Amino acid sequence: MRARTARARWSGDRVAGAGATAFDGRRSAALALCRAAAAIGARGWCQGTAGNFSVTLDREPLRLLITRSGRFKQRLTGADLMLVGADGAAAEGEAGRPSAETPLHCAIASVAGAGAVLHTHSVAATLLGEHFSPRGGFTIRGYEMLKGLDGVASHEAEVFVPVLANSQDVDALSRRVRAVLGERPGLHGFLLGGHGLYTWGESLAEAVRHLEIFEFLFDCLSRRIQFQPFTG
Ligand SMILES: [Zn+2]
Repeated sequence: MRARTARARWSGDRVAGAGATAFDGRRSAALALCRAAAAIGARGWCQGTAGNFSVTLDREPLRLLITRSGRFKQRLTGADLMLVGADGAAAEGEAGRPSAETPLHCAIASVAGAGAVLHTHSVAATLLGEHFSPRGGFTIRGYEMLKGLDGVASHEAEVFVPVLANSQDVDALSRRVRAVLGERPGLHGFLLGGHGLYTWGESLAEAVRHLEIFEFLFDCLSRRIQFQPFTG
């Protein structure tokens, strides 16, 4: 990812630029996130209430606009989103419960400087995560589509995808995520074993692009068994 911005940008949507109020920023961010979630859902990557999504509204202090717990991601509206602070708790004046995995979003926004974080449960990501969890990850190489990841200029690049063992202890999981992101600053995503993908970007548009690229590559890797098994 390139230089971090204090406020996420929304390529393809109205920009909360100079003169925009905090309300305008939240409203345009919510609109962009709901549109992105509908498109992601249509691809089959977040069935039912699976997955969670966030955008970074402010950095100091950290404020994320994130999906509420238990909402159908394909039909999100602004009412399905809420503001949380750096600790993952509801921001002042916000009612209700954010996604159970909110601490992971906070970890990624704070350590990787993400402007948006997308978490999906596709079949390919679930199976690859399950298979490679004992090894702690796998390396993707040789695919032209790798160039869709920020900073990757050649199909010859090697992109490591960490796989963390899944856990219902989200606070412990978020501490492990912080450690992995600290050790590997160039990451664009990671998997949770038997669970799904977390990916992010400087902007929501970049996060969506990274999601599409990873899902395409995961599809290739999981289908390769028909010709030559992927061994990581
Ligand atoms: Zn999940």
